[in-house]
Amino acid sequence: MNRRTFVRDSIKATTALSLGSSLVAASAPAEGASPSFTFAQVPLPYGYSALEPHIDALTMEIHYSRHHTAYIKNVNDEIAAKSLGFGSETEFFANASKLSDKARNNGGGAWNHNFFWQVMKPSAGAPSGKIAEALTQAFGSVEKFKEQFTITAMGRFGSGWAWLVSDQGKLKIGSTPNQDNPLMDLSELKGTPILALDVWEHAYYLKYQNKRADYIANWWSVVNWEEVAKRLG
Ligand code: MN
Repeated sequence: MNRRTFVRDSIKATTALSLGSSLVAASAPAEGASPSFTFAQVPLPYGYSALEPHIDALTMEIHYSRHHTAYIKNVNDEIAAKSLGFGSETEFFANASKLSDKARNNGGGAWNHNFFWQVMKPSAGAPSGKIAEALTQAFGSVEKFKEQFTITAMGRFGSGWAWLVSDQGKLKIGSTPNQDNPLMDLSELKGTPILALDVWEHAYYLKYQNKRADYIANWWSVVNWEEVAKRLG
């Protein structure tokens, strides 16, 4: 290393430290890449009333335009305030245990809802093809999968999510509290998310009040199995 390289590297290291992100700097993207990843809200792939009668329009509107928009804004505010220099969402969640509560909760909320909107659609049918085969192989039948997933979603006390994940090629059902997700290093449930269900009361209370079981039973009618199958890889 010549002196010029040393000086340049020292300046880079100092800059990284002054951003308060020395851990991040070690795996920061190469020069020229975007210095900091931020979250973006995906456009809702359908209108607010499209999932009626299973999910009502007012719930969808409040959920998307207030709850989800707030998670996106809050996590990006925190990324800016703490100068979090992550290169991707994968890297962000792999470091979840080191994040502030604000970054972890809102980052989870941002990502989980982006995922959730995309695995639903109006007048969805039954799973078929490779997703039906994979569910049958892992759980005995599509019906048995739905039963087990429902039990898990019902069993999440308070706010959280139910998930179908692929963990090293094996399909598993589990749940996470609050806005945690299976991509987070501190999550007990690990794996690639294949399907997700929001069981926060804000997802169903206007229409179903305390009847989470009815919400889940109706939600199966809007699962976009084609999108779910894509996530199987
Ligand atoms: Mn939600």
